[in-house]
Formats: sequence, C-alpha cells, structure tokens
Amino acid sequence: MVALQQILRHKTRAVSVGGVLVGGDAPVIVQSMTNTDTEDAAATANQIKELYHAGSEIVRITVNTEAAARAVPDIKNLLLKDNIRVPLAGCFHYNGHMLLTEYPECAEALDKYRINPGNVGFGKKRDNQFAMMIEAAIRHNRPVRIGVNWGSLDQKMLAALMDENGKSADPKSASEVMREALVRSALDSAKEAEEIGLGGDKIILSAKVSRVQDLIAVYRELAQRSDYPLHLGLTEAGMGRKGIAASAAALSVLLQEGIGDTIRVSLTPRPGESRTEEVLACQDILQSMGLRFFAPQISACPGCGRTTSTVFQELAQEIENFIRAEMPQWKSAYPGVESLNIAVMGCIVNGPGESKHADIGISLPGTGEAPVAPVFIDGKKAHTLRGKNIAQDFQKILLDYIAARFGNAAPHSAARHG
Ligand code: SF4
Repeated sequence: MVALQQILRHKTRAVSVGGVLVGGDAPVIVQSMTNTDTEDAAATANQIKELYHAGSEIVRITVNTEAAARAVPDIKNLLLKDNIRVPLAGCFHYNGHMLLTEYPECAEALDKYRINPGNVGFGKKRDNQFAMMIEAAIRHNRPVRIGVNWGSLDQKMLAALMDENGKSADPKSASEVMREALVRSALDSAKEAEEIGLGGDKIILSAKVSRVQDLIAVYRELAQRSDYPLHLGLTEAGMGRKGIAASAAALSVLLQEGIGDTIRVSLTPRPGESRTEEVLACQDILQSMGLRFFAPQISACPGCGRTTSTVFQELAQEIENFIRAEMPQWKSAYPGVESLNIAVMGCIVNGPGESKHADIGISLPGTGEAPVAPVFIDGKKAHTLRGKNIAQDFQKILLDYIAARFGNAAPHSAARHG
C-alpha cells in the first residue's frame, strides 16, 4: 500500500471552511451536495444529516431562490438542534449577489459560498454582481470557492482565446483552448476577488469538466499556476458504476500527483438510491489509495472455478454490511479501527498467504477441500473453524479482536498504531 507520506502533496494555502481546513497540510476533505429542494428546510436538513453521518465533511446546498435563502438559517438550526456542525456551502448562480446581500442571515448561516464566474451575470452587470458576492464574503468573513464549469464557461473569454488561437502560427486544438479558458477564468476571477479585498486564504478553486483527460490537464495547469487549494470533481460523472469509475480514474491520477485538497464524486443517483453513495465513493477512492482511512478494509478474492459455492461472497458481504452498520459506534469506542485490514479468501491457493498479510483473515474451503476454515490473526494461524456457522463464528472472533486491539486502553492498539 502506498503510504500518505510517499505522495508529495502540491503545496497550497490552508483555507478554513467553518473550522474544517482545506489545503495546506490538511488531509483531503470529502464533500457532497444535497439534491433536495432547499426551500424544504426539513427535507434538506435530513439529507445533510444522512450525508454527514456517512462521512461528508462539508455539505453543499443550492441557494437558488429567495425562499431557499430564507430556509438556510432554518436548515442550520435544525442541524444544530441535533448537534451537527458540518460546514455548509451555498451554491449561487445568477441571483447570488442579491440573495447574499438581501438575506444576511443566509450569508451568515453558510460557511462558504460557491461562485461560478460564468453564471454571475451578463455584460456590464457581471463585474458588479461578482463584486457584490465577494463583498458579502468579506463582510461575513467567509471563504469562497471560485468554481468554473465547462458548461457555463465565460463565452466572451472563450471567443477571445479562440480568435487569438486562430491567428497563431502554431494553433492549438479547440479542446486545448477550452482548457486554457477554464484555467484562466478561475485564476482571473481569483485575482479579481483578491483585488476587491478578499484574502488569498479565503479562496478555493475548481474547474470542473466531464471528460477525464480534460480534468487531469486542467488541474495540472491550475496546480502549476497557483497555490489556492483545489476542489476536485468530474462534473456530470453519471450513474453508478460508470460515474464511480470515471471519477476514480480522474481523481486518482491527480491525487497521486499530490493535486487536490477536497473531492466530490458527482453521482446521479438511481431512483431510490441513497445520496450517500457519493460520500462512500469519495472515501473508497481515498482509502484505496492509502491517503485516508475511514473503515476497516476488506480484501476479498474475486473467486474463480475453485470456489463454486457462494459462502465466501456472502461472508465478505456480511462483514462489509456489519462494519458499515457498526462504524458510527466503533469510531468512538475503538479509535484506530479504520486502519484494520481483513481478508476473506475463497480457497487454499491464495487464502492462507493473503490472510497472513491482513490483520485478521479467513481462508474458506474451496470446492473439494476439507470443510475447514483457518483464521489468521496478526500473521499467525489462531483458529480453525468448522461446520455450518463459520460466518457467525468468524464475526465473533473479529469483534473480540477489535475490542481487544482497539478498545479503550488496549495496549496492542497503542503499540501497533502509536
Ligand atoms: S483464492 Fe482461491 S478461490 Fe480465490 S481467486 Fe484465488 S484461487 Fe480462486
């Protein structure tokens, strides 16, 4: 596993978002966005709670109407009633200057404002409306994310760059010009915000596109040309497997290069699917890269013709469900448990070897093997399970192990994780 210290992070300024640090030496922060109607304060507060409990460290809500702006303080109060202090980011487009000025309680209840310089206003109004939003951030001492998006790119700037490119002796491709326009839009807007008076330690940048190679190129450029913290995310990533695969492909290349201070995986939920999937996807990306640990990691072999029963698949699934359900309590009862490695293997070929490398592992009997399942703890064979209750027996051993190793004042825990 690649350890955190082996990845040299791109040096950025640290920005405090409601007390959560983004950038500097802070870990890569997980964030998400609600898809409820913000005007419905109760529904929005409930979804924020869900996202927070799943592990979202910042939650963004859209603030698109006056009624939504009025609902924001109510949402905040509903969260505080449950002692939930997750920072809230407000997403503003077109009328943000008016909402942030005329609804100061909304501006105060939010911990960060997302401003899309391509959607601030048109013509002469644009500069004034952008300035009004930045002035609101200065008045309320809040950071902003200058979030450009290829779908709402400043068309005037893009046209000017295209013209310039057309006259060049060595013209770039249209896609390269579009990337440059995104980068310039973000950097120029940040400069403009600083000129208005916003501190450089109050600015986070993002430049979202929907194609993996474009995203990688744009963020490499942003990282080279600025030291603002960077919010990574592929926009319109898509549903389920496709969205997760595309986001992981783009984000992991950048994170491996030390680029990125906070991430969001923008998944389109399938009907009935929980919004928390996007939080878990972020956590899985960071944990699989060894950047952060959120829950014990299960290594399960893929299975093959040597294991025709579904026992090991069911056991891996059961353990994963069990861990997800228990993690909220374990976090306080068993500090450090998130770094635990568990192996669930399907047969004798790789089972004992892989299980020995994990903190605790089980090697299930493959087709035609004797119906026994050795359990390895800290690299040594500790138990041999038999019979129909192997899954339950293993879960009990796992629980005992966690309690002994990570329970309060467990000496083993301190020794291994010091
Ligand atoms: S451990 Fe056994 S069952 Fe699992 S993939 Fe390897 S050979 Fe197949």
